[in-house]
Amino acid sequence: MIDYRSDTVTRPTEGMRAAMMAAPVGDDVFQDDPTVNALEAKAAVMFGMEAALFAPSGTMTNQIAIKVHTNPGDEVVCDKLSHIYNYEGGGIASNSGCSVRLLDGDKGRFTHQMVLDSILPDDSHFPVTRLVSVENTSNKGGGVIWDDAEIELISRTCKKHGLGFHMDGARLFNALVETKQRTEYIGSMFDSISICLSKGLGCPVGSLLLGSKDFIRQAHRVRKVFGGGMRQVGILAGAGIYALDHHIDRLKEDHINARQLALALSEAEWVKHVVPVETNIIVVELADGENQQARLDELRAAGVLAMGFGPGKLRFVTHLDVTEAMIDQTISVINAMK
Ligand SMILES: *Cc1c(COP(=O)(O)O)cnc(C)c1O
Repeated sequence: MIDYRSDTVTRPTEGMRAAMMAAPVGDDVFQDDPTVNALEAKAAVMFGMEAALFAPSGTMTNQIAIKVHTNPGDEVVCDKLSHIYNYEGGGIASNSGCSVRLLDGDKGRFTHQMVLDSILPDDSHFPVTRLVSVENTSNKGGGVIWDDAEIELISRTCKKHGLGFHMDGARLFNALVETKQRTEYIGSMFDSISICLSKGLGCPVGSLLLGSKDFIRQAHRVRKVFGGGMRQVGILAGAGIYALDHHIDRLKEDHINARQLALALSEAEWVKHVVPVETNIIVVELADGENQQARLDELRAAGVLAMGFGPGKLRFVTHLDVTEAMIDQTISVINAMK
């Protein structure tokens, strides 16, 4: 099976497994795990931020960030396509007791003017606007990349109005290998950044939350409350260090593969439209009258796994375990489908 359902389906490489086996460990709840400490320090330095926290998932690092930034009754501003709103089980409400102001952006991206317009007046009728969150790349937007100039304007707007500014950077490195933007510049614009190690970077588990020393001190407590305090997880952090050293530049290959696949898909008669590919996510809109499940089944029967992505849409994601030969094979499958 050639698996394009998600970039989370990767298996650790030999090199990563060796790094995991060799990692020194300790009890990370006591902050005694040297490999976790090294991973957190490495990521913080990389983005020019004071501190970092290793957690089991990107959902947890996002939810910890929201919890630390807000008080119950506050409002979180994000795009209508954002993962924190759509795919985290309603956690903003259940974990933090916050309401959400959804912005109607362009493929998951909004402007500083839209943020300005969303800030509620200081009036006891209204929730307190407290936090703005952006997602780079935008998953539901089709892996599209934010314009850093717009992010900088939003960052200034947040500072001016006393709002926290968070990035869900589950696939931030997919954006950075394309824009070649400096990590320190990205870090300078945010109060907190969440990064997934278990997506394109190919780790079995783990995400990082970056922020100030004080923010991460509070995040450490929330991670414990959420049940995310882990013990000898240097074994997993070792995979993270390996990924940051070896799996960032190669994301470009995933993007080249995605563009090739998108080209083949755009020529298929059963496809109406392919969202222009910017990174490793391909979102396909099926032609009118097409049966989504039947197409998924047909692909599966030919050895190709994709995912439904809302009505009439399929998602393909390229990753570390997709080779060029697999892309060629998939293109043959697509070309053979009537
Ligand atoms: C995958 C993902 C997350 C977090 O996912 P986990 O599976 O909890 O690690 C967060 N945001 C985006 C945009 C994602 O794609």
